[in-house]
Amino acid sequence: RALRFASSFKAADLTIERSKTCKPKPDPSKLVFGKQFSDHMLTINWSEKNGWAAPEIKPFQNLSLHPASSALHYSIELFEGMKAFRGADNHIRLFRPTLNMERLHRGTERCCLPVFDKGELLNCIKKLVEIDQEWVPYSQDTSLYIRPTFIGTEPSLGVSRTGQALLYVIIGPVGPYFATGFFNPVSLLADPSFVRACKGGVGSYKMGGNYGPTIMIQNEAVKQGCQQVLWLYGEEEEITEVGTMNLFIYWTNENGEKELVTPPLDGIILPGVTRQSLLDLARSWGEFKVTERTVNMKELLGALDAGRVLEVFGAGTACVVCPVGSLLYKEKTYQIPTMENGPDLTKRFHKELTDIQYGRKQSEWAPIV
Ligand code: PMP
Repeated sequence: RALRFASSFKAADLTIERSKTCKPKPDPSKLVFGKQFSDHMLTINWSEKNGWAAPEIKPFQNLSLHPASSALHYSIELFEGMKAFRGADNHIRLFRPTLNMERLHRGTERCCLPVFDKGELLNCIKKLVEIDQEWVPYSQDTSLYIRPTFIGTEPSLGVSRTGQALLYVIIGPVGPYFATGFFNPVSLLADPSFVRACKGGVGSYKMGGNYGPTIMIQNEAVKQGCQQVLWLYGEEEEITEVGTMNLFIYWTNENGEKELVTPPLDGIILPGVTRQSLLDLARSWGEFKVTERTVNMKELLGALDAGRVLEVFGAGTACVVCPVGSLLYKEKTYQIPTMENGPDLTKRFHKELTDIQYGRKQSEWAPIV
């Protein structure tokens, strides 16, 4: 049985069936996140019996799944979210895609899904983007969203390791993530009665099962006049993440030092590619303290009260960075002075990352497809 983990599919074995028709491309100014898809998709089948099949690029189409497929019943599902960007030089770039491959790969073990060669998957994805390159929008505030998905397809209701799986990738053009537009600060609902993930659980993996249950709380936030959820955890009301973004606080700490803080990767935090990139950048600048540590609500409210908080922002592939303007906690609204402070650091991070993504600044973080 151990043998089934020994091999991987290979990009060199890709078969390509081109679509006979091309869908019209949507107007780049009217893109809605996750609703438009390109002409092709990548699929790779695996079974315990036969191992990995050759990867296929074929016309975008519905899947045919057995109704007992384990992904549908027990959420044996992993996904990734990454983007391709068309630069001013017309080259198409990815952003630190190996980090996405590594995150997906880490998840396979936790889901008992079969392992694969990360470089081979990335090469297959590059080929898909190349084939659908006209779907990468010709503008520098939009991009092509890439959604690798890995599902258990075992046609059996037993709660056990899946003997069949499908790894597939769909792509589509996306505009700005927030309907309010970029750099409008978001308001957050912080309600300690809800948690996104718990210690010993699977919050550090991009498993579909982590996301479905958040929708009701997101709706609750909207009902209460907020835009996103600030996820708290435990007795101490630790601050963990915001919506589907990692959270950063830039403040003057209790010792009077300027400090950028984000929660540590202690199992309840999704290890974001953007999070890692902001930490790497800030550390390379060496201009202020950069710390991965737990911050609780009491500390944040204390710092707000003392006027020590400079900027609070979320970080993720969808928005790069998103300033936070206020917090609703136990029926009281707390203003956060992110916008009043520029927001200098939030803007600087946005510029640095988008300059790299759109090729305005050369970087090994942005390989050309
Ligand atoms: N936290 C959660 C819960 C997420 O789903 C995401 C999106 N993947 C992030 C943070 C940000 O991660 P990334 O920077 O890799 O998009």
